[in-house]
Amino acid sequence: MTSAANPSNFNELGLIPELIARLSDLEYTQPTPIQAKAIPSILAGSDLIAGANTGSGKTATFALPTLQTLFLAKGVNKTPSKGNFVSGLILVPTRELATQVADSVKSYSANFNGAIKTVAVFGGVSVNTQMQALRGGADIIVATPGRLLDLIKSNAIKLDKVNTLVLDEADQMLDMGFTDAIENIVAYLPPERQSLLFSATYPKNIESLSAQLMRNPQQVKVEEVGINKSIKQTFYKLSNNKLRFNTLRLLLMKHQPKSCVVFCNTKVEAKRLFEELKEAGFYASALHGDLAQQERAMMLMRFANKSASILVATDVAARGLDIDDMDMVINYHLALDPKTHVHRVGRTGRGDKKGLACSIFGEKEVFRVKQIEQLYDREFEPAVLPSLSLLEKPPYKPEMQTLYIDGGKKQKLRAGDIVGCLTGEEGIGFSQIGKITVFENQSFVAVKREASKPAFRKLRDNKIKGKKYQVRRVN
Ligand code: AMP
Repeated sequence: MTSAANPSNFNELGLIPELIARLSDLEYTQPTPIQAKAIPSILAGSDLIAGANTGSGKTATFALPTLQTLFLAKGVNKTPSKGNFVSGLILVPTRELATQVADSVKSYSANFNGAIKTVAVFGGVSVNTQMQALRGGADIIVATPGRLLDLIKSNAIKLDKVNTLVLDEADQMLDMGFTDAIENIVAYLPPERQSLLFSATYPKNIESLSAQLMRNPQQVKVEEVGINKSIKQTFYKLSNNKLRFNTLRLLLMKHQPKSCVVFCNTKVEAKRLFEELKEAGFYASALHGDLAQQERAMMLMRFANKSASILVATDVAARGLDIDDMDMVINYHLALDPKTHVHRVGRTGRGDKKGLACSIFGEKEVFRVKQIEQLYDREFEPAVLPSLSLLEKPPYKPEMQTLYIDGGKKQKLRAGDIVGCLTGEEGIGFSQIGKITVFENQSFVAVKREASKPAFRKLRDNKIKGKKYQVRRVN
């Protein structure tokens, strides 16, 4: 473990003014415990193993010192790398995390005047766009292991100048079967480098991986995910497994959440449950490993723009996603590990809000309830189910409706053009328009449900920037 020193502001960590100013813009007033403990060691050049969960501020912990080292190494002439030699390599388990970490790194580099270029590479999308981005040069790559290997093999990336390697959510990467891929990748890296490993847990395979990769690593650990006592937790025991779906419906009907994540243990179950919920009239989205990139973006967008009130998700798919601050979390099956339960439940009750978590369990899951009780050091008496008569009412209708437009950035559409069309003569009010998302060839706009008819007609019947587009309601 590292020293007890716990700096309470970013100036004391040894960060350069460009980064300090950026953190102040982002309203990071104080380092999180993992940042306070790890950043000075990383800046001093140590290898490091950090025990930290999502939400601990771990991304900034590795991103800030990595950026600082690369920025200073550029000397006076600070321009982005032109060739396909990479200096910083960040490996992550999922494509969501790749995008999210790359976005954070880019955001932290905002005061570097473009001197450091960060590119995310991940599977599930065409390799060509990523190759093109890499041809423009990249200082930092955030990558999932499989896609990175493909790119190395096709000579699109050269790793022999890497001076910082980060393994983020290392336990998850190994669980997902990336051990060989990681070992393969590391063989392309120079032995003279700094290696940083972040992992929520320390199973044996992480120990042996770190022994292989690291030299005299410092170890830092912060407390486990806090057990948030302000979250009201209720457990419902099934007398028969066949009642699981109706129990879920009852809970949704009783609480009418505006935003609720329903956790499943497998993607097969998540897919099935999503279909069943839609059939039963609920406004649901789903996130699981079998979705193509575009479907996933659509699902997330509908949930984030409040036109779907339920998100059915697996733990892996929900990991790293910025879907905090839910009204409610429901465990359709209990998590396979009590710590995952704490993590799931912690998605609700953020800040001063009161959280609500309901967990459904059958006879075969009783032992999991016991494990959870041990972790919380309390008992959870199973609660009585709400009245079945609730099932006769219609499900909650989200306040927003998403409309699809078959044009996007390629057609030079901007959010302002869509707002202009919607609010033009006899149009709808500004306050009835929600989130607008413009993709390459399509755009989505959330409007208040009661305004969705006139909004639909406006978009369908009028030209936007001189052109008519096809419009659909997304359900
Ligand atoms: P992470 O654990 O890296 O996923 O970060 C969790 C969230 O905390 C992200 O939204 C960060 O932007 C935010 N964050 C990280 N460090 C700080 C900090 N020192 N102060 C405030 N927010 C932070």
